[in-house]
Amino acid sequence: MRKAKEVAGRKCPICGKSKNQVNAGKNRSGTQKCFCNDCKKYYTLNPKTREYPEEIRQQAIKTFYAGASGRGVGKVFGFSKANVYNWIKKNSSSSQ
Ligand SMILES: [Zn+2]
Repeated sequence: MRKAKEVAGRKCPICGKSKNQVNAGKNRSGTQKCFCNDCKKYYTLNPKTREYPEEIRQQAIKTFYAGASGRGVGKVFGFSKANVYNWIKKNSSSSQ
């Protein structure tokens, strides 16, 4: 008996559970499809990485320059400090 592999760290957008999420192949455009064993629904993952609105980025950069650490900014806005440092790097190189 072959058991579908449970995917760790995946969250069902319908019921919000992160348990019993399995890979269910890909659709025609190559997007990963998943199946929630909890609510018995298929859903697709957004293949693109989450983009944050420009406004949020600017706010985060401002907060950073106001004296917060990258980690602190990430905590406040809810994204990783790597994101924050990336934006700051981009921001400072494009404003010259
Ligand atoms: Zn579900």
